[in-house]
Amino acid sequence: MIKKLSFSLVALALFNISIYAESFDYKLSPKKVSDNVWCFLGVLEGPSKTNAGAMVNTCYIKTTDSFVLVDSGPSYQYASQAYEAMSKIAKLPVKTVITTHEHDDHWLGNSFYKDKFNAEIIGPKYINDHYKAGDKTRMFRVLPQNAIKDTKIIKVDKTPDKTVKMTIGGEDFEMIPIGQKAHTEEDFFIYMPKRKVLFAGDLAMNGRITSNRHGSLLGQLKAIEMMKSKEYEVFVPGHGLNTGKNAMDDAEKYFTLLHKRILKAIEDGVEEDEITAVVTMDEFKDRAMFKALNPRNVSDAFTEIEFAED
Ligand SMILES: [Zn+2]
Repeated sequence: MIKKLSFSLVALALFNISIYAESFDYKLSPKKVSDNVWCFLGVLEGPSKTNAGAMVNTCYIKTTDSFVLVDSGPSYQYASQAYEAMSKIAKLPVKTVITTHEHDDHWLGNSFYKDKFNAEIIGPKYINDHYKAGDKTRMFRVLPQNAIKDTKIIKVDKTPDKTVKMTIGGEDFEMIPIGQKAHTEEDFFIYMPKRKVLFAGDLAMNGRITSNRHGSLLGQLKAIEMMKSKEYEVFVPGHGLNTGKNAMDDAEKYFTLLHKRILKAIEDGVEEDEITAVVTMDEFKDRAMFKALNPRNVSDAFTEIEFAED
C-alpha cells in the first residue's frame, strides 16, 4: 500500500515537472511601427488556452539607454519572451513600464520587469486599490499553467492623476488620463509628440468589437475627442492590427453610431428588453467578437444614456 502510494506520488511529481518544465511558447515577433517603436500585436480574440493572452498589443520604445514600455502583457512568461525578442534588436534594460488601464491582459507582465530590472511602473491608482498579491484575476483562470506560472500581482509605483510629461533617454512622452470612466474607471493614453505616435490602450480597438462592460459610452466619446486633438501618424490600439493614421476610425464610428441610435431609440420609447433587437449595429457584423460583445455594449449604453437623460 505504502509502496503503491509513494509510486503514485513520484508519478504525480514527474507529471507536474513535465507540465512545468516547458514554458508556453508565445512565438512573439515585434513589428516596427515607427522609428524606435516596436509593438507585439495580438490576435483578434478573447484570451484562451490557445493564445495564452497574446490577444493584446504591447509596445517597446527604444531610448538612448533604456526601453520604455506601454503595457507589459498578460503574464510573466509573455513579458520574458517579449524582452528576449527585443534583446535581439537592442541590449537595453527596461526602466519604465507604463500601464494604460486595469485589465490584467495589459499588465500582468509587470512583475517580470520589476524582478529583472527594478523598472518603475507608472499606471492607474485603480490597480493598487483593487488588486492584491495572490488574487486570481481573469488571466490566472484562463491561461494555461505553463503560461501564467511565475506571474505575480505587484503594485504600481507611480499613479498620476493628471497629464505627465516625461523625457526619457531623448524620447518625449505624454501620459494623459481621461479623467472620467471611459473604457474602465481609469484609463490613460500615451502620446509621443515628436514622433507623432499615439498609444490608445483599450480606448480604441480595430478589427474587433470592443468590450465596454466596465466602461462608459459617454466617456469613450470624450476619450476619442481627446485623442483626435493630438496630431499623430501612427495610432496603436489596445487590440487590433491596424496601426495607421486611420486606426481609430472603427472605434469612432462604432461609438458615435451607437450613441446616435440609442438616443433615437429612447426618443421612440423603445423599452430595455427590446433595445438589442432595435439597435443592431449591422455595419460591424464582420468584426471579430461581434456576437459575443455587441449586445452587451448596446444594452449597457441604453442603461447609461437613459439614466443620464433623467
Ligand atoms: Zn481593457
